Amino acid sequence: MIEAKLFINGSWTEAKNGESFFCINPADESQVATCASASTADVDAAVSAARKAFDEGPWPKMQAAKRGRILNKLASLIQRDADELARLETLCTGKTWFDSRKIEIPFAGQVFSYYAGLSDKIGGRTLPSREDAFLMTIKQPIGVMAAIVPWNFPFLLSAWKIAPALAAGCTMIIKPASLTPLSILHFAKLCKEAGVPPGVFNILTGSGSTVGMGLVQHPGVDKIAFTGSTEVGQIVQAEAAKTCKRITLELGGKSPNIIFEDADIKAALRGALTGIFYNKGEVCAAGSRVLVQRSIYDNFVEQLGEKARKLKVGGPMEEGTRMGPVISDSQLNNALSFIQSAKDEGARLVAGGKRLTEFDKGFYLEPTVFADVSNEMRIAKEEIFGPVLSVIPFEDETEAWNIANATPYGLAAGIWTQDISRALRTVKAISAGTVWVNAYNLYDPGLPFGGFKQSGFGRELGLEALESYLETKSIWVQL
Ligand code: NAD
Repeated sequence: MIEAKLFINGSWTEAKNGESFFCINPADESQVATCASASTADVDAAVSAARKAFDEGPWPKMQAAKRGRILNKLASLIQRDADELARLETLCTGKTWFDSRKIEIPFAGQVFSYYAGLSDKIGGRTLPSREDAFLMTIKQPIGVMAAIVPWNFPFLLSAWKIAPALAAGCTMIIKPASLTPLSILHFAKLCKEAGVPPGVFNILTGSGSTVGMGLVQHPGVDKIAFTGSTEVGQIVQAEAAKTCKRITLELGGKSPNIIFEDADIKAALRGALTGIFYNKGEVCAAGSRVLVQRSIYDNFVEQLGEKARKLKVGGPMEEGTRMGPVISDSQLNNALSFIQSAKDEGARLVAGGKRLTEFDKGFYLEPTVFADVSNEMRIAKEEIFGPVLSVIPFEDETEAWNIANATPYGLAAGIWTQDISRALRTVKAISAGTVWVNAYNLYDPGLPFGGFKQSGFGRELGLEALESYLETKSIWVQL
């Protein structure tokens, strides 16, 4: 069993109160790690290490190209240790080995490479607006950043915050979700190896209420980058306001995946399935509401149900498994309660709907599809964060847009059509931070990702994320 400590100021340390918690493998419910549970005193120690590394240390003052070289080194170390990182990721999350090893860990490496290249390209502007003065802006790192991340993509979502923050010259503390701290703890070893100076990168494992909230309230922290539920995001925002912290929030979603009658049906079926069943639906941008045009509805639903029933659910390390267990007992029960509510409200079950009984241990749920869902039902309104899909019929473009937008969320959307004008009209009409056309769940380090409405604000990835770790300083030189 792994015994994990806190990583503060470049060293591994026990929690000051000696407390710890267990991590469970959702595939077989075995205990895989004991992790230090940080106390308020540990939060203080980590913030003061990050503060010192920012205020006095070499990181923000280092030649930008040298910071870039260190980030590049991290990218290659991630590649070198991809097997181990993927193993730890799958161990805690239950995501398939394929998803960890072939998709998410390599993508995290690419994110580091992308920001490595940007670290020496951060600059301000000169403004030719006055004769009597020289006006310019420079960009400076915000300071100490605290990253609070969820359990669904523990390493990848951490990379989305760490890489731009370090490229900008910030120092930081990260608080992983308690269910899934192991991959990021391994990353601390890579930071040491790559030459990240002590105090620049710190890890505090522990509870949201003590560690997460401790960081949000701490006067030594300048920025919070939070990814998690809308509910906790709202608490974080209110609390961060008391010290006027800079904040970005990446929150929940209930994203529409819209299939028009002229879509390439084979591709749309694939997109509908990966949209909801990739990572067992534990995806903030999951296409959890599939909207299908009435003229192709019956046929589409039938094929979708058939394909969902054929998806192989099983041990995440087994070859051929398309869907591993959901993350925890409570997530499983949460999904089952949504399934019951859908039945009670009159939705039609076309696939799945039950816990898989062939496994003695582990949190396995059938890929579940409900048809004839109305947008007013609970399964269509609330984020389930599990492999449960709602299929909703629509008549025409306007009705599709109205249903798609009738949600407090606005994270992502998919559109399936071969008519470019219809695609672009729909792109404009949908309130969402990302719209995929004839694709779903695809990401690029340069393409910003984030929410409209209650899916949060600020952007991860791209130049936008880098900007969110920088302050603009205006300079007036009187001539
Ligand atoms: P969560 O909100 O329960 O927890 C997220 C993180 O916040 C965890 O590290 C948790 O320990 C911490 N936390 C909990 N209470 C806190 C508090 N009072 N103060 C400070 N920190 C606190 O979310 P989760 O269950 O880990 O993750 C699932 C949620 O995350 C879903 O709603 C999902 O949509 C969202 N999510 C969003 C994105 C995105 O990019 N928009 C990506 C992934 C997940």
